[in-house]
Amino acid sequence: LAKQRGKSRIEAFDVAYDKTLQRRLVIEHDLRGSGKRKELSLAYQPIVDLASGRIVGAEALLRWQHPLLGAISPDEFVQIAEEAGLIGELGAWVIEHTCRELAASYRRGRTLWMSANVSLRELRAPRYADRIAATLRRHGVPPSLLVLEMTESAAAQDIAQLSGVLQTLRALGVRIALDDFGAGYSSLGQLRRLPVDILKIDRELVAEPPRAPALQDAPLVDVIVTLGHRLGLQVIAEGVETAGQREVVESDGCQLCQGFYFAGPLSPGELDRLLQEQPAYAPV
Ligand code: C2E
Ligand code: MG
Ligand code: MG
Ligand code: MG
Repeated sequence: LAKQRGKSRIEAFDVAYDKTLQRRLVIEHDLRGSGKRKELSLAYQPIVDLASGRIVGAEALLRWQHPLLGAISPDEFVQIAEEAGLIGELGAWVIEHTCRELAASYRRGRTLWMSANVSLRELRAPRYADRIAATLRRHGVPPSLLVLEMTESAAAQDIAQLSGVLQTLRALGVRIALDDFGAGYSSLGQLRRLPVDILKIDRELVAEPPRAPALQDAPLVDVIVTLGHRLGLQVIAEGVETAGQREVVESDGCQLCQGFYFAGPLSPGELDRLLQEQPAYAPV
């Protein structure tokens, strides 16, 4: 009986493994041309300046509506795209469409900036900065309205090359944000090595009190905000979900916030409506 059970457990494992593998292969296969088939879109999540109460920026978040699998999270397909060598194509689609949206917003007289997420593999591709410059120029968008968000991985060895690309982008006027700071691989070390303009505090730090007993009352957000400002960086708190979190983050000195408490990722139309509703000047 035990043997039987063991066997069926292995079969169950095989089936599950098959499904995972199959899904992965389908995703990898279908990612090609997903942009041309109009399955991709960008959702824009507002970034709010607490002092004025106004939306000052928006992060473009990639969405993929697969015809059979439904909506697939970027956390899942971006990694597959990286491993399958498809991230260049995907990233180019993201930059192109972010710049289109930026151009439309800029023509309406807005100074709203937009950020796009880029994978390290994209940044390392030859002539990456040139292509960004060309896309901005083609759309008539001031480079200062574009922010590129990057997350460093543990494997980043070619810091010198990476820094070079970031320097070129910054010389154009494009700003660089270090995403998910304080979680995973993002660390203090990078801040010393990489030229960045903006720090985005990971939502884990915003949402939860530190777990380690030694850190129980350590104001981690406060420390990161102070550090960021000392380095001359702008600091954005990510994942602000409640009024309480907003208050904590604000009292920690963080002026810029992003999170469901303010707004989730929106369609361009929804973002536009919110921007029209907001006061021209909102003294607090
Ligand atoms: P991220 O860049 O850190 O983006 C923030 C993620 O947190 C988004 O998830 C957003 O929807 C979610 N979020 C925003 N506010 C809240 C909140 O208050 N609470 C919670 N729990 N979540 C919140 P999303 O859109 O699923 O994206 C996941 C990740 O996928 C992104 O994390 C980013 O690393 C990656 N990604 C998204 N779009 C792109 C892209 O165009 N290119 C690349 N390379 N990566 C992308
Ligand atoms: Mg991001
Ligand atoms: Mg993030
Ligand atoms: Mg993330």
